[in-house]
Amino acid sequence: MYGDDGRIRATLRRAGALAEEFIEALPERAVGPRAGVDELRAALGGPLPDGPTDPVHVVEELARGADPGIVASAGPRYFGFVIGGSHPAALAADWLTSAWDQNAGLYATSPAASVVEEVAAGWLVELLGLPPGSAVGFVTGCQMANLAGIAAARHEVLRRAGWNVEEDGLAGAPPVNVVVGEEAHVTVLVALRILGLGAARALRVAADGQGRMRVGELERTLAGCQGPTIVCAQAGNVNTGAFDPLAPIAAAAHERGAWLHVDGAFGLWAAASPQRRHLAKGVWQADSWATDAHKWLNVPYDSGLVIAADPGALRAAMTSTAAYLLQSEGATRDPIDWVPEFSRRARGFPVYAALRSLGRRGVADMVDRCCRLAQRLAERLRAAEGATIINEVVLNQVLVRFQPPSGDADAFTRAVVARVQREGICWLSGTRWHGMEAMRVSVCNWSTTEEDVDRSAAAIEAAARAEVRP
Ligand SMILES: *Cc1c(COP(=O)(O)O)cnc(C)c1O
Repeated sequence: MYGDDGRIRATLRRAGALAEEFIEALPERAVGPRAGVDELRAALGGPLPDGPTDPVHVVEELARGADPGIVASAGPRYFGFVIGGSHPAALAADWLTSAWDQNAGLYATSPAASVVEEVAAGWLVELLGLPPGSAVGFVTGCQMANLAGIAAARHEVLRRAGWNVEEDGLAGAPPVNVVVGEEAHVTVLVALRILGLGAARALRVAADGQGRMRVGELERTLAGCQGPTIVCAQAGNVNTGAFDPLAPIAAAAHERGAWLHVDGAFGLWAAASPQRRHLAKGVWQADSWATDAHKWLNVPYDSGLVIAADPGALRAAMTSTAAYLLQSEGATRDPIDWVPEFSRRARGFPVYAALRSLGRRGVADMVDRCCRLAQRLAERLRAAEGATIINEVVLNQVLVRFQPPSGDADAFTRAVVARVQREGICWLSGTRWHGMEAMRVSVCNWSTTEEDVDRSAAAIEAAARAEVRP
């Protein structure tokens, strides 16, 4: 069936060549998009084709039409949101994952995907310093990791109260208290919404100036909680990079019999670095963790990880059984036991490849390098006229605010961000932090160099000058 006419080979070779060209040009490509929505619709749209089109032609036309709308977010000077690049081993393994087209739901559908997940899970738990034997699920991103981790929490706190939430739902269940930091990421709130725990019902604990949960406030909140309780803390604030004080939070949560879930989408990777580990002190004492592989591990999208110290709780919350499934009953790993999905991509392969290629030291070096580069950028910008760094740069996140010689710093900061984005040397986004507009820089790409940072700092400075005298 895979035609003797060689079309499959020709198509893959063409795609490979296009991908290679893209990757080679990536460091010097304008970082933002180069076309607006009308242009992209015109290039990519049109009627649904009535008949077949040669696959080589489709790939070429797709690449041509998409190109001006492709953002160089995999490149070295993209500092927007928190977006990692693609490590070469992970990218290549991701191609193979597509070619193999495994359904990673069961051992039976892909023994290799199952075993690779098993191995990568063991490596991850060790690398991050989490309790040996913790369960790991390979999900699409940290949103689903938060959902799965908090589902495990919901299972366990209700089980201890004599309630089977998976069978009997929440109607009539003992009320579950959920305690989150004031600075909890929106995906934690979305998870609460989907899990029937209610985003607005969550008790919010005040944070300090860097966004860290105040432990005294947490203790006071917990003192008022009766019955099943879940605490959600954070390793790595999406604006400042700050860590909640996890050791005292774990102590306070466990003293009250609460489950502690940690959202460490990017910050959890600090635990892999001997130099940064202190930030996540006590993180291993939590009960569940959510993190991303597509951020700081530099695995292509989409790849997140949910980890639970008690495999039974995660499994009970996630597993599905049906007579036809040929599940392996514990002797081997059935990935459906650990994630919300049923059929799914074998996303363990690229995670495995990244870990194997980087090794323990490589992951630590990548984390440390990004943090050093964030410091370097902060230092360069501190010296720029009118610029102030408004966070403590403890990790890879930098918040910068620009004061014009006269006038409004909020509007001016927004204008500087917009100009930098338009100019395309680097890309970063704006945010609001404690009522102030700020430029938000996140360094989490394996390929970013000091030169990239210096060029970016110069571009930002120049944009601020140009905004004063446009
Ligand atoms: C990015 C992020 C998330 C969401 O992760 P996705 O991979 O986008 O689903 C959750 N929490 C924090 C702190 C984040 O930075």
